[in-house]
Amino acid sequence: MSDCLFCGIVEGQVKGDVVYRDESVVAFRDIRPRAPVHILIIPRKHVATIQDLEAKDQAVVGQIFLVIAKLAREQGIAERGFRVVVNSGADAGQTVFHLHFHLLGGRHFTWPPG
Ligand code: 5GP
Ligand code: ZN
Repeated sequence: MSDCLFCGIVEGQVKGDVVYRDESVVAFRDIRPRAPVHILIIPRKHVATIQDLEAKDQAVVGQIFLVIAKLAREQGIAERGFRVVVNSGADAGQTVFHLHFHLLGGRHFTWPPG
């Protein structure tokens, strides 16, 4: 079994509330939601941080944003607005080192983030 938690969800070895999957992207609900809608969208391929992306990953990053737009519509947060967050690296507070995009919605968010 992979020692990466999110690879485990991709491979079905770790339980995850998966809301979307295709050949390159998986999306599942965050186990500790910070908003009424809190979904994590990840590349199937293990990439640790933004800094680890390669030129050949360009398509999957584009696909992730299309999936975010689709999920936002499906979850009813597209019109009011939503936030997309990537914590990349230690200072950003990244805790799981498999690149993931947080889709947060269903409440008002303040700026700047803490
Ligand atoms: P980070 O702080 O790395 O940007 O975000 C990691 C996110 O993964 C957190 O929001 C945390 O709640 C979520 N998380 C941690 N462990 C699990 C898990 O086992 N399952 C799911 N679905 N989410 C998790
Ligand atoms: Zn991984």
